[in-house]
Amino acid sequence: MRAPSRLILTALALALAGPLAAQTPPPIIKTEGLKQISPRVHIIPDNSVPLTPNVGYVIGDRAMLVIDTGLGPRNGAAVYETARKLGGDKPVYLVTTHVHPEHDLGAQAFPATIKLIRSNDQVKDIAEFGLQLAEVFAKRNAINAELLKDANFRKADITFDKDYDLDLGGVHARLTAMGANHTAGDTIIWIDSDRVLFSGDIAMRAQPAFASPHSSLKRWMASLDRLEALKPAIIVPSHGPTGDGIGFITGYRTYLTEVRERTTAEKHAGRSVDETVAIVTTAFGDRAPDKARLAGAIRTAHAEAN
Ligand SMILES: [Zn+2]
Repeated sequence: MRAPSRLILTALALALAGPLAAQTPPPIIKTEGLKQISPRVHIIPDNSVPLTPNVGYVIGDRAMLVIDTGLGPRNGAAVYETARKLGGDKPVYLVTTHVHPEHDLGAQAFPATIKLIRSNDQVKDIAEFGLQLAEVFAKRNAINAELLKDANFRKADITFDKDYDLDLGGVHARLTAMGANHTAGDTIIWIDSDRVLFSGDIAMRAQPAFASPHSSLKRWMASLDRLEALKPAIIVPSHGPTGDGIGFITGYRTYLTEVRERTTAEKHAGRSVDETVAIVTTAFGDRAPDKARLAGAIRTAHAEAN
């Protein structure tokens, strides 16, 4: 087959970019959306804008914690400015739910005096993948390129292995490294006094994304059990709307259980991974609108089935 001409590709890119560019807002954190969701926790909702995270603030008597930075330094600066409005001149700690660009690459805009806390798994993710994903995002359009210009990872001031308890004064934040679910560096933040869980990409409304070669469906199922055991009243995922109770957790469990059962059955019947993706995707139909994410889950399940 002949490769499509450059002209055809350009026309296709324009056809795709036109309506998409009009519909998709730029990944700018809308700080005016800041709202309080519990006695100690505020968030800036992402309004489900792609490449934008839900940003969290936990305000203690002595210090405050910021969760996720937005895409690039400009967003990071706005997120930091909002922290100062909320918490005055209290010391600021920063943590990210994982090291993907829209969660982490605003950290360099925070002043040198703040303390960035990372799990050792996040440090490893940065060492292994670096700015690969940032380069992919920057190539998508001019706005992303501008936001990510000169963006780089900030070095951690504090590192931890499994858990880190941060006493902010009158409120504690418990940071837990969850292993490889969405990424190897997935970190959740649990505010016990408010029963608020920042779940990262581990429990959301949108379908789960197996975004790392280390991603494991088996581990993801175990992670969901750990999240449920916390009995959260509110889940703030890293993208999309917040959820009351454990609906996001049970939703992911139901979906991943079906992926695993269907995939295992096809593997036992001797189907290849590509055949299994086709068959299981058809079985899900409209229930799984994100076909790429579904395929990622099926491929992971196929590799892990025995
Ligand atoms: Zn991510």
